[in-house]
Parts: sequence; C-alpha cells; structure tokens
Amino acid sequence: MEEIIKELPKKVYDLRKENVSYFKRLKKRTPKNLDYTVQELHDKEFTKTDCLTCANCCKTTSPMFFPKDIEKAAKFLRMKEQKFLETYLERDEDDCYVLKSAPCTFLDESDNTCVIYDARPKACAEYPHTNRKKFIQLTDLTLKNSEICPAAFNIVEALKKAVPMVGNAKNEKFKRGK
Ligand code: SF4
Ligand code: SF4
Repeated sequence: MEEIIKELPKKVYDLRKENVSYFKRLKKRTPKNLDYTVQELHDKEFTKTDCLTCANCCKTTSPMFFPKDIEKAAKFLRMKEQKFLETYLERDEDDCYVLKSAPCTFLDESDNTCVIYDARPKACAEYPHTNRKKFIQLTDLTLKNSEICPAAFNIVEALKKAVPMVGNAKNEKFKRGK
C-alpha cells in the first residue's frame, strides 16, 4: 500500500486533464442510474481496499468538525466541549474547525485504527464520499480526494470504464456505454 500511496500524486497529475474533461462530459450527459453505478463501484472497491493498511486520509488531511461532531467526540472522551476545542482544534481559512495537527491526533499509528471511531466526525465516516447521493455534484471533491485516497482513485478509473464518455464536450457529441 505504501508504494501505491507514494505513486498516487503523479498518477493523478498525469490523468488530471483526462479526468477533468471526463467529468465535464458526465455532467452534461448524466445517466439516470449514475448514483447506483458509483455505489456499486464503491462497494466493489472497498471489498479490495482495506483502510487499515492505508489511513492516508487520517495521516494527511483533517476532517471538518461541526458542532455535532465536537459534541459527540468530546462526550466520548469525557471532556468539556470547550476543552476539546482548545486542545485539538483550530479554525482554518474558511473559519471551519479542523485538527491542529496531522496525522490526526486520534489515529493510532501502530495499527491505523481510530481511537474515537464510534464518535468520529461525519466527514470521516463518509470519506471518500463516493457512496453519497448526487455524486455528480461531488466530482471536484472526488478528484481532489483521489490525490490522497487510492480507493477514490480506483473508483474514478472504474467509473470511466463503466460509463465511458467519448467525444467533444463543446459540440456535445457523446457516446455513452450505459
Ligand atoms: S478512505 Fe481512502 S485514504 Fe482513507 S484509509 Fe481508506 S483507502 Fe486510505
Ligand atoms: S478522527 Fe479518526 S477517522 Fe477521522 S481523521 Fe482522525 S483518526 Fe481518522
């Protein structure tokens, strides 16, 4: 897995143009069953990819902590919410609460488990967001996530095969596989 993670930024960089263009076309001609297709690809991918061998999201990015997340995590750790905020979080440039440090304080690096797993933020539970409804609204996020998440990368590659888009986005001549 380490090698795959190491190679990911270059692979994403090399495919960037192709993927941006693909999603542009997909937005113009979105199949009705797209969410269903992506969900299937997501499920298939996560039968192969074991997050416990990876944890690259927990090591390199911070989830956003919304009030509910702070309440839940603080309660789980038996801390006052204010103390939790002061100890672990800071505001980012968008004024959202994020972790002060990376890798995540709650990651046990000996086995890649999350010590607050049952009270982890919603953003962590949903990551890499490839099984959410209205996938077509999340294509930019998916491309961004594919830079650090090998599963998201594989899902995008599998989607290109499952729902091929061929043609020029400007004149809207497309062929679609499904
Ligand atoms: S969600 Fe993606 S980046 Fe995070 S641990 Fe799983 S495979 Fe790795
Ligand atoms: S809270 Fe848990 S799941 Fe979320 S980034 Fe930290 S270790 Fe990973």
